[in-house]
This record gives sequence, C-alpha cells and structure tokens, in this order.
Amino acid sequence: MPNFYTDNADIKFHLAHPLMQRIVALKENNFKEKDDYEFAPKDFEDAMDSYSQILEIIGEICGDIIGPNAESVDHDGPVLKNGRVEYARGTTENIEAITKAGLMGIALPRRFGGLNFPMIPYIMAADIVSRADAGFVNIWGLQDCAETINEFGSEEQKQRFLTRVCKGETMAMALTEPDAGSDLQAVMLKAHYDEQKKSWLLNGVKRFITNGDGDISLVLARSEDRTQDARGLSMFIYDKNSGGVAVRRIENKLGIKGSPTCELVFKDAPAEICGNRKFGLIKYVMSLMNGARLGITAQSVGLSEAAYREALSYAKKRIQFGKPIIQFPAVYELLSLMKAKLTASRSLLYETGRFVDIYKTLIHISQVRELTKEEKDELRKYQKLADIFTPLAKGLTSEYCNQIAYDALQIHGGSGFMKDYPIERIYRDARITSIYEGTTQLQVVAAIRGVTAGGYLAQIQAYEKEPIKPETESYRKILIEMTEEYEESENKVVLTDSNEFIDFHARRLVEMAGNIIMGYLLLADTQRDHNYWKTLEVFLRMARSHNKSNSIRILHSNLNDMGKFRYE
Ligand SMILES: Cc1cc2nc3c(=O)[nH]c(=O)nc-3n(C[C@H](O)[C@H](O)[C@H](O)COP(=O)(O)OP(=O)(O)OC[C@H]3O[C@@H](n4cnc5c(N)ncnc54)[C@H](O)[C@@H]3O)c2cc1C
Repeated sequence: MPNFYTDNADIKFHLAHPLMQRIVALKENNFKEKDDYEFAPKDFEDAMDSYSQILEIIGEICGDIIGPNAESVDHDGPVLKNGRVEYARGTTENIEAITKAGLMGIALPRRFGGLNFPMIPYIMAADIVSRADAGFVNIWGLQDCAETINEFGSEEQKQRFLTRVCKGETMAMALTEPDAGSDLQAVMLKAHYDEQKKSWLLNGVKRFITNGDGDISLVLARSEDRTQDARGLSMFIYDKNSGGVAVRRIENKLGIKGSPTCELVFKDAPAEICGNRKFGLIKYVMSLMNGARLGITAQSVGLSEAAYREALSYAKKRIQFGKPIIQFPAVYELLSLMKAKLTASRSLLYETGRFVDIYKTLIHISQVRELTKEEKDELRKYQKLADIFTPLAKGLTSEYCNQIAYDALQIHGGSGFMKDYPIERIYRDARITSIYEGTTQLQVVAAIRGVTAGGYLAQIQAYEKEPIKPETESYRKILIEMTEEYEESENKVVLTDSNEFIDFHARRLVEMAGNIIMGYLLLADTQRDHNYWKTLEVFLRMARSHNKSNSIRILHSNLNDMGKFRYE
C-alpha cells in the first residue's frame, strides 16, 4: 500500500522550510528535556528526524488502514444505541491503530504523555489523514481542543485531562445551538453553580456537534444570568464519566459520514470552568476556533490532494476518441489548474501554521518566564500575522477544495457520479469544508480587517522585498502589478466610508489579497525548488485574471448599485 507521507514530496518540502530552525529552537527550549525523556530530541536534526519518522508511521497507517477503511466507514457510519454513539467498525480500527502508534496528543507537552510536536508536523499529519479519510480526521483532529486546556486550564486540569487525551480518549467542541450558529453570542445553554453539589451544572441543547459523545468536551455556556451577549458566556470542560448528557440523534449527512454529528441534551450535567469566567467567547472560543480553522484548512488540502490524485489517475487511463482523455486541452488544463490550487493551498496552510507555531510557543514560554523585548516583538508580529492568515487560509483553501473536487468528479464523467470510484465520496466530503468552523462568508467577515487595516498589504510588501533569483524577476513584476490593482480596488471601497459597501465587496478584496499572497508563496517555493516553477506559472495566469475580474467588478460599481442587489 502507498505511504501517504513518503509519496508526497510537497509535504516533505514544507517540513524543510528554513523557519523550522526557529520553530524547533523555541519549541524545544534549548533541548532541555533531552535528559528527562527517552524520545526527546537532542538537537535540531534529531527533532526533524523524529517528525519525519512519526509522519512516516502516520503515512503508513493511512495507506494500510485508514484509507482502505474509508469506503466502508462512509457506508456504515456511526449508530446511536441507548443515547450513546457507536462508531463504524472501520473507525474503531482506525482509532486503535492511531492510539497504538502513540499518535494521540502529539502536540501536547511530554509531561502529559505527548510528543511536544510543533504545529507544522501536527498539521502535516492532519493533511495526510484527511487524504485517507476526511471524516476520520475530525475524530482524530479534535485532539486540538486539548490545546485550549493546555493554554488556559489550570495545572491540575491539564494533568487530569491532557494525560487522558494522550492515552487515546477523544474530544468534542460543543458551541453550536439551534439558534446560535454563525452568531455564537446567541448561545443559551445554561450554566448555574449548585452550592450543594459544589459544581457547575449545564442544561440545554447543542446541535451539530462532531464526535459529541467524545470522552472530554469543551462546552460554551451562559454562566451569567440575564445576559444576552458574549460577556455572559464561559467555557466549560465536561467529562463524559460524570454523566448528564445524552445524544438525542446523529445527523444523517451528505458527507463525512464516518464522523458522528450529534444533537446533545444536557440535563444537570456537571462541568468545570476552563480559564476565567465570562471569557468563554471573547477569548477561549476565538483561540479554539483559530486552531480548528487551521485543522479544516489541513482537511481541505488533504481532500484536494485525494481528489487531484484520483482525477490524474483516471485521466491517464480513460481512453476516448482513441486516446487518453488527459491529452485533451479541456482536461489537461483542468488538471493543471487543480494542481496549482492544491499547491498554493498547501503553501498558504504551512505559512499560516508557521506563524501560529511561533506565537503560540512564545505564549507558552511567557507563562514560565518573562520574554525578552525581541521575543515580545516577535510574538506580536506573528500573532498579528496568524490572526489575519487563519481566516484567509480557511476561506480560500476550502473553496479551492470544493472546486478541485468538482473538477475531479467532472473528469471522471458519468463514472464519477457512481459509487464505483472514491471521487463520489471525496466530492461529498469536500462540501462541508466551506461551512463548518465558520462559513466562507464568516471567514471573510474576519479577514476583511486584514484588508482595511492594511495587514495583508504590509505582508505583501514584506514578501516583495525578499531576494529572488534573477530568472524569476518577471513573476515578481506580475505580483507588483496585481498589488497596485488590489490597492486601487481597496481604496475605492474604503473611501466610500460605507460599511455595507465594504461588506458587499469584502470577498472580492479578500480573494485578491489571498491570490497575491499565494503567488508570493509559490515564488518563494520556486527559489528553493525548481519543480515549483510550472505551478507558479499556471497559478499566476489564473490568479491574475481572477483578480482583474474582481477589480473590474469593484471599480465599476458605486453606492447606488447596492439597491439592485438588496432584498428587504
Ligand atoms: C457536519 C457538521 C459538523 C459540525 N461540527 C461542529 C462542532 O463540532 N462543534 C460546533 O460547535 N459546531 C459544529 N458545527 C456547526 C457549524 O460550525 C455551523 O453549522 C456553522 O458555523 C454555520 O452555522 P449555521 O449552520 O447555524 O448557519 P447560519 O449561521 O444560520 O448561516 C446560514 C447562512 O447565512 C450566512 N451568514 C450568517 N451570518 C452572516 C454574516 N454576518 N455575514 C454574511 N453571511 C452570514 C452564512 O454564511 C450561511 O451561508 C458543525 C456543522 C456541521 C454541518
């Protein structure tokens, strides 16, 4: 069976990024744990080698177990028995294989049983698992809820819960309710403190909760009586062993069928506060969701990889009009555009991951000692970048994922519509990526600040200054022209001083910024490896015309146009 890590040169290329030196140095803190833990690395090379080895194990499990199980898991799905979720047989096998290989809690500190991996190799694992089965990655990937406990929980909570995650217990993130989806300020699940029981008790309903019957859940609940907004919400940790929560139903879905999406009923369910009261939405959910959004970006990239590979293989084999269909321009253009979108998505994913890695690790260090002035500046810089890159990456890569899956199915013709080929499942699985963890429209709501406050432009200008090989100068010129066009469009929108006009064009502006950023990332990739050249060329042709079209749309519109589109 293929190894999903060793057969993917793109992932290995990103693991070897120069910024990994800094990331590992921060994460391993001068390799101080080398004498205390058997598997702790003793230097940079040793750390990189251990990431590579673990990714190879994950790649093997994906090729041998998770990938082959994907069809039966999609068919069987989880079932509800007496208010509890029973996974499909294949899902249970997958969890056993992953846990046996010690791959739960890989990003958590060693003192809790984790591997202390930085974000980058952890996201790589998610990218690889998503290619094998995008439904399963939800169950495995929810371990990143543990990072919220690691960042904001007490030491005693960390000891109690994180050690369990490292041993293979699964997690859930319960935010959404029937009347609180995109607008989480509307959460109404009630938390009250019971003086007799000396415990918080949760009452109410949550819906659409992935792995809702997981062992440990983070629950957003209203702890402050008579409040209606974000300031009345706190974050709670619910332990399934305490009881009080029943799964009322498992949703019957279009895709990711192996991932149980649950409606939960809380009846006096005991729970404990995580972090400070009233900071549930304002601080902890934002942090939790940013981590989860990166996870969905990885899921989008992994799914795009799977779809592209299926389409490529089919196009080479399928003969029509006496030749393989890959020789028709209409088909090979689709394939090369898919490849360009996939590669650009992955570059954006890992760039964002590097930003998150640096600032999160510095936050953890700041909890142990005071940061130097340089470190504080570094933290601020990367936190700002992570904040604007996360919604950009989630929004753009999930949309690309849907386009790639659509085109991959198209290349299969009628066969793509049948259950005979994996693309039918991949196409259905892809659809969720632009919906959960905030729809694309909500990613745009978050990302538009990066446009109007100039964050994207500043980073684009920083990329522009990077030294490049003279033979790639013409690509930088194209990107500079695209940047001027972006600035002109942005000025036109912002100068109207109308929030509605900004919202109306927000997606177009965010896409323009994203295309320029992905163009620069591919240009940087080409400096390190000549093989990216062709992809850069194809991507820039596509991105340039996309931006031109967005810019024409913006420059030829004005405030009076809004009425033509508005519904009352
Ligand atoms: C399979 C699945 C798994 C999920 N897993 C989880 C989970 O584990 N935990 C959890 O808490 N939740 C989970 N969710 C919930 C998910 O995050 C929400 O469905 C999602 O955030 C959208 O909320 P909604 O469905 O209520 O849609 P709504 O908020 O009702 O949105 C409907 C439409 O309105 C648009 N819209 C809303 N507000 C705005 C705005 N301000 N500007 C522009 N457009 C807007 C949206 O983009 C969307 O197109 C899951 C959902 C699904 C389908």
